[in-house]
Amino acid sequence: MIGASVIQIFSNSPRTWKAASIALGGFEGFGDAIDAAGSGVQRVVSHVSYLVNIASPDPELYERSVRVLRETLNFCGTIGVTGAVLHLGSHRGVGLDARLGAIRDAIDDALAASQSVKLLLENSAGAGDSVGSSLSDLARIIGSVQQTHRIGVCLDTQHLFAAGCDFRAATATAARRIAGELPEGSVQAVHLNDSKVVSGSHLDRHENLGAGAIGVDALAALICEDPLAKADVILETPGDGDGPRREDVDLAKRMVGLT
Ligand SMILES: [Zn+2]
Repeated sequence: MIGASVIQIFSNSPRTWKAASIALGGFEGFGDAIDAAGSGVQRVVSHVSYLVNIASPDPELYERSVRVLRETLNFCGTIGVTGAVLHLGSHRGVGLDARLGAIRDAIDDALAASQSVKLLLENSAGAGDSVGSSLSDLARIIGSVQQTHRIGVCLDTQHLFAAGCDFRAATATAARRIAGELPEGSVQAVHLNDSKVVSGSHLDRHENLGAGAIGVDALAALICEDPLAKADVILETPGDGDGPRREDVDLAKRMVGLT
């Protein structure tokens, strides 16, 4: 155990198309294990497969993505996961306007297939033609779906920085801009990551807290501002190669004033 109170899992291998299925077994008692005295985990969110691309203009890839998204949300609901984080994918050059209806339909379809799981749209670093590097695009998508109360945003600090928002010298201004561009209450999770790359590089390259181009002070200042201050904080830092370590969780807790 590394002292985390919120954890993020993959319900299937993030680089395959195989959707998780309860029929495969191995998930019995998952909720009980999480609830067990001493785990300290209060909430579990899941990350949808990286291959899912509900913005794709390729009909086959789009249909496959819709199916896997639907199955993932259904599965999350079954095992007691409260939210699923989704990368919106790439429009492959045709533009968001051309794909907005298809993105909306995919989300409506997935939410209708599950009871209570929330879908958290993650901002992108803006590589290629990825959708969601602009917060106003995320707001447009949220505004287009039917069940807006089941949609939120997972704000990744590294993606925000790499997409061109250099918030180091002006965290309060950046937070106000985020609050102004996104619907009220929508920032429900934060992926707290430092950056291996400079602002504006549009590359998705996470670094351990304090070891990257953003630094601990700016990250701490940003996540203590509304609307980020109310969100669940999740680390996706590399650690020593195996993901976040206890020391990373301890540092993150100090940054949000928990210890
Ligand atoms: Zn992330």
